[in-house]
Amino acid sequence: MAHKNEAPAAAKIVVSKDGPYVVTGKVPIQIQTITPNKEKFSWDWVPGKSFPTDDEVHLCRCGQSKAKPFCDGSHQKARWDSKESASRAPYDEQAEKIDGPGLNLQDAEGLCAFARFCDPAGKIWGLIEKTDDPEARALTIREAQHCPAGRLVVSDKQTGKPIEPALPPSIGIVEDPALKCSGPLWARGGIAIESADGKPYERRNRAA
Ligand code: SF4
Repeated sequence: MAHKNEAPAAAKIVVSKDGPYVVTGKVPIQIQTITPNKEKFSWDWVPGKSFPTDDEVHLCRCGQSKAKPFCDGSHQKARWDSKESASRAPYDEQAEKIDGPGLNLQDAEGLCAFARFCDPAGKIWGLIEKTDDPEARALTIREAQHCPAGRLVVSDKQTGKPIEPALPPSIGIVEDPALKCSGPLWARGGIAIESADGKPYERRNRAA
C-alpha cells in the first residue's frame, strides 16, 4: 500500500526490553506543537526546537527522564509498565471503511492519539459524507493528513490509492498546550519500528 512510505533502511526505532526507544540512522528529532485555529480546534503542526541526533540515540519511554526527550536511565528505578499495547495487526485489518461520495475513509480507532485534528467542521466522519463538495473534500483530506497516529487514512475513490502527506523520515516530539501535555512520539515517513520481541510493526507513513 502506498501509505507505507519507506524510509531509508537505517532509520529505525527499536523498543528495548524494559527500556527506552533505541533510534538509529541519524533520524531528525524535533518538537511538533498542536496549534489551534480561531475556533480552538486543532489545526496546524508548528515545528519547534530540534534536538541533536546521531547514529544511535535513546528516547525516554518510561516518562520519568529529566533529560527528555532523551533517556537518562530513570526507567531502571521508575515504576512504569513497559508492556507494549499496540496491535500487531496490519492497518487494513484494523480499519473500518467508510465510503463517501468523493473519497473513502479508513478509521482504525485503536490507533487514536487524541490530537483532535479530526474535529473541525463537524468532525471528519460527517465531512466524509459531503465529499462531493470540493471544500468538504479538501478539509477531509487535511484532517486525515494531520492525524499523527495514522488512525485516519483517506483514499481516492477511483484508484483506491491513499492520499498521504509527504513526510520526511523524522520523529516529532508532540506538545499539546491545550491539554497541557507532552507526547506521544510521532514517527513520520515510514521509519521501521521493531518490538522488544524482535518482530517488526507494519511500516507506516504516520505512527504515534
Ligand atoms: S489521532 Fe487522529 S483520529 Fe485521533 S484525535 Fe487525532 S486526528 Fe483524530
